[in-house]
Amino acid sequence: MHDLLHPLTDADVELIEIAKNKIKQRYRRRWHQLAAAMRTKDGKIYTGIHIDAYVSSLAVCAEQVTLGTALTEGEVDIDTIVAVRHPKPESEDPEVRVVTPCGRCREMICDYGKDAWVIISHEGQLMKTKAINMLPEKYYLPGINKGN
Ligand SMILES: [Zn+2]
Repeated sequence: MHDLLHPLTDADVELIEIAKNKIKQRYRRRWHQLAAAMRTKDGKIYTGIHIDAYVSSLAVCAEQVTLGTALTEGEVDIDTIVAVRHPKPESEDPEVRVVTPCGRCREMICDYGKDAWVIISHEGQLMKTKAINMLPEKYYLPGINKGN
């Protein structure tokens, strides 16, 4: 994995801060604990928060809300995406931290931007990698090319 990791740019660091600020604004225990921020290839920024529910399997990830918001506005060219988690109030670690996308989000990000960068925390260091690097042997439908 190390050779697939790249250092962050200033714009990446800014994107993390945007995601952190979004969840600090919208945090609601058990309902909204994560946020994502996405930069398109033409520099537009979209954000989203995760949507939990009493039936936890209904929850929708922040990356999916963010992607949906961007797609609704006509954007499909993902450059970089990052997700962050707000700590619970009783947590000993008060920091909002970068989290790696879950498997469903890896699929979704790759479907719409397999050359997209994803910011992750690797061994305690913030780095970025291509989304497809996080999903070897990705599922595809033969003859169907969604996204790019
Ligand atoms: Zn997810």
